[in-house]
Amino acid sequence: MPIFEYACRACGHQFEHLRLPAATTDPACPECGSGDLDKLMSGFALSTRDLTKARVQAARQQIAQSKDTKDKQIAEAEYVRHHMEDHVPPPAKPRRRSG
Ligand SMILES: [Zn+2]
Repeated sequence: MPIFEYACRACGHQFEHLRLPAATTDPACPECGSGDLDKLMSGFALSTRDLTKARVQAARQQIAQSKDTKDKQIAEAEYVRHHMEDHVPPPAKPRRRSG
């Protein structure tokens, strides 16, 4: 459920309002009853910040793991490349055909 945070322009009161998908009317200030409100931040944004923190930690772990994997892959790739350079003949030159 999207929870929106509002600030009343009339009296400056800030409050959270759970806005139902079916709701078509804007909330009113619980302090002064004014409908002149600024929409601030949703509750999702706050929880997303926590989520992002968890994601960053997970991503850091992944990077730490993938770094080892990448080094291994680079080492393997270099080994294969050297191996191939030793054994693969140079590309054949195009033959010149007369006639
Ligand atoms: Zn108000």
